[in-house]
Amino acid sequence: MYDLKAIIIGAGIGGLTTGIALKQLGYQVEIYDRTHQLRPAGAGISLWSNGVKVLNQLGLGREIAAIGGEMNRMEYRSHKDEPLSQIDLQPLFQTVGQRPYPVARTDLQQMLLDAFGAVEVQLGMKCIGVEQDKTSATAVFENGHRTSGDLIIGADGIRSIVREHVLGEAIPTRYADYVNWNGLVPALPELCEADNWVLYVGEGKRASMMPVGGDRFYYFFGAPMAEGSQVPPEDRRQELVEQFLGWPTAVQTLIQTLDPLQANRLEISDIDPPAHLAKGRIVLVGDSGHATTPTLGQGGCQAMEDAAMLARYLVTTNLSVSDALGRYEQARKARTSELVLKARRRTDTIYGKHPEMTEEWYEELKQEPPEAVTGALARIILGGPMG
Ligand SMILES: Cc1cc2nc3c(=O)[nH]c(=O)nc-3n(C[C@H](O)[C@H](O)[C@H](O)COP(=O)(O)OP(=O)(O)OC[C@H]3O[C@@H](n4cnc5c(N)ncnc54)[C@H](O)[C@@H]3O)c2cc1C
Repeated sequence: MYDLKAIIIGAGIGGLTTGIALKQLGYQVEIYDRTHQLRPAGAGISLWSNGVKVLNQLGLGREIAAIGGEMNRMEYRSHKDEPLSQIDLQPLFQTVGQRPYPVARTDLQQMLLDAFGAVEVQLGMKCIGVEQDKTSATAVFENGHRTSGDLIIGADGIRSIVREHVLGEAIPTRYADYVNWNGLVPALPELCEADNWVLYVGEGKRASMMPVGGDRFYYFFGAPMAEGSQVPPEDRRQELVEQFLGWPTAVQTLIQTLDPLQANRLEISDIDPPAHLAKGRIVLVGDSGHATTPTLGQGGCQAMEDAAMLARYLVTTNLSVSDALGRYEQARKARTSELVLKARRRTDTIYGKHPEMTEEWYEELKQEPPEAVTGALARIILGGPMG
């Protein structure tokens, strides 16, 4: 179809990547976000090769390579500093044809905003509902503004308002029973080798560092916790000291190096895979359709795959907008649902929901050949539409 007007609600990874893809097709695109200043939730993100391939297709390959970290190896160590496994990632790159890029989220957001046109994103626009009839779809905003187009794309995250219209009901988020702390630190040699992604695991918790561009590590910690805990930024270092008492020297150095005032502290949630991703002229991309726990590092990558597939069906089929969105739903539902549920199982294993399974996993890590790890990563990457 040609000459469509698309309205996107949400300017996160999903909304911006979709906006770029649709603009490249010559469509008129409007993006609205409720925030007055776009600030990504979280410090870093690992874009696996399937996400990078979408960016390559959009002509952003050089830009992502310039801000991405060079991650060549992956290493698991125990909380007592025993080496559990060391994985050379080169065989993965050879299998899938593209290296992944861990990046600082602000760098990624800036790259996407530059590609879309930052001034064209309309901020301070909270969408409170969407409507549709046979010929158009309309987004309604809290300030009374209304805008209509051929389709509306709900890229409004885990607590999506657009999803309520698509499903006919609100669905609850599901707390994953753990807290994640994350941020950026300088890539000091005493923390980790510069091209290594290290994960310390034990006691149903983990602590990790991965290289992002600009000689920095993206660090994250995770530990099981009851819902509703709150710790002010100034107390977050002490919280980590207590949570990771007795863990290896590199972890202690990380805790002392990080800036607690800049450390994000998030209670992690996901949603059950919804029955639909589209209804008529209204469609969901990214977390609004399939918010996931981050233990596979695929949420943002799936949002990018969504963008590529939505663009593909809109431009290659010509019956109607709702027909194209139905095809998109069919292409994306099984893949995204499977990854949400897979990530959920992995989360439960990592964070000790069933302690005996977590202990078994620690044992497996010692015995698992590196090919098993790179093979599992390759299957996830190659299982998507980018091949
Ligand atoms: C700790 C953590 C680590 C992660 N690590 C990885 C990783 O390594 N790799 C990976 O691929 N993924 C990762 N993810 C997942 C990834 O961050 C998300 O899947 C991705 O950011 C989702 O993007 P989105 O655009 O769909 O939603 P969001 O980023 O949530 O953006 C939604 C936007 O919509 C706006 N909005 C919401 N409601 C409204 C409204 N009513 N009106 C207007 N605007 C609205 C919001 O302000 C926001 O800007 C991680 C997630 C977390 C929490």
